[in-house]
Amino acid sequence: MKYLKIVILLFIINFNLNAQDQSQLEINKQDNILYVIKNVNIIPMTEGNKVIEKATVVIHNKKIQSINDSIPVNAKTIDGTDKWLIPGLIDMHVHNLADIRMSSNYPTKGATLFMDNQDFMLLYVANGITTAFELSGRVEHFGQRNEIINGKVIGPRIALAYLVDGGDSGNIANTPNDGRQTVRLAKQQGYEFIKVYSNLNAETYKAIIDEASKQNMKVIGHIPTIFKGNTKEAFVPHFGMVAHAEEFSSQTDEYTNEVAEEFAKLAKDNNTWVIPNLSNLVCIANQARSLDSVRNLPSFKYVHPLMQSKWIVSNQYNKGTSPERVAYFDSLVDFHISMVKALKNAGVPMVAGTDSGTSGIVWGFSLHNELELLVKAGLTEEEALISATRLPATWLEIEDKIGTVEVGKFADLVLLDANPLDNISNTRNISGVFVNGKWVNKERIDNMLSDLAEKNNRNKDKYDWNKRREY
Ligand SMILES: [Zn+2]
Repeated sequence: MKYLKIVILLFIINFNLNAQDQSQLEINKQDNILYVIKNVNIIPMTEGNKVIEKATVVIHNKKIQSINDSIPVNAKTIDGTDKWLIPGLIDMHVHNLADIRMSSNYPTKGATLFMDNQDFMLLYVANGITTAFELSGRVEHFGQRNEIINGKVIGPRIALAYLVDGGDSGNIANTPNDGRQTVRLAKQQGYEFIKVYSNLNAETYKAIIDEASKQNMKVIGHIPTIFKGNTKEAFVPHFGMVAHAEEFSSQTDEYTNEVAEEFAKLAKDNNTWVIPNLSNLVCIANQARSLDSVRNLPSFKYVHPLMQSKWIVSNQYNKGTSPERVAYFDSLVDFHISMVKALKNAGVPMVAGTDSGTSGIVWGFSLHNELELLVKAGLTEEEALISATRLPATWLEIEDKIGTVEVGKFADLVLLDANPLDNISNTRNISGVFVNGKWVNKERIDNMLSDLAEKNNRNKDKYDWNKRREY
């Protein structure tokens, strides 16, 4: 998005056998363990979503093997009494930290900044996020994902979108032919989705979407700035998802309900889904007020020290801030809430996404803020949960694998201490998480988080954003 410049770093595994690694090894030994959750209330998130009370859930070989069927003798029991089981949560807009080269001066040099992939992925696991959609995919993200898939790291499933922009730097395409070729290359390199960006010209944008359709790749992204005043033209067939509500506010200077309704109609008529991403502008407005909103985040201590440094010393929302700017951000927040209402009325599917990685938006933790804001904006608790479970799985076309609690699906599950249908904030009350069939309970999560906070604190002086090119 135009206000957000994201720097992405990567984390490599460090095989010192510290407490955290040991904990990780124990988690990874679970591959063949049979689990049974007894006496649990299942919120399946299927179409009817009828709660199954006091149920028995058997988990084996990464999958939900049975619900209310016989219990295998050797199953390890988890007591689900007075607890609630929901599908693993999905964040549809993230920017993951991955290895990165900050300076470049000779071939073979490789990355200059490495971090620990497990430390990073813990932020998702701790928050019940079992799938994340990376919207600025790079080659390093494939390696990061493979470490999760091969069991070295416990973390979410990750879908990867390749970002294409216009202009003169980055992954650029400024002609329709270049746009099409970029899509074909991305497909060959293994990316699953295409993300279109703000500076594309109209013809290239359309060519990219058309080519993506031919390559069977769905398209998500920004509405290029060039379409301002003629937003309808951007809603071409196969433009699958708008990456945040800010794309609409960037297309107008009139933040009225009528304009919100017009935009919602464009999305509806084109079958384009929307990620409202209310939390990022709320967070940006708070940073424009004061950086204390970042420093005092309870999750700030879990953020890698280099990013902690960046979010404070190079904060573009706070830099040169003024009351006018704060008021402008606040007006965007209000308009985005109007957008959510309009989208809901128009029947446009909305999915939850956070833009985590942007300053002040902490991976994993931020999804709970987003769900709360969606409810405040007018979604029901159930609709908010759908936006982070079944609907994103459907858009990603993996609804046969994840997104609901049903027999045969992957065991991506969150066990909650209270009912999120009563109060969406209860998604924060996590008793434990199944990540691809591996059980991580609250105690383990808390231990890993406190180890991480301690490690970050210890390493704080080693990282300074202003010196990143010297590393
Ligand atoms: Zn983003």
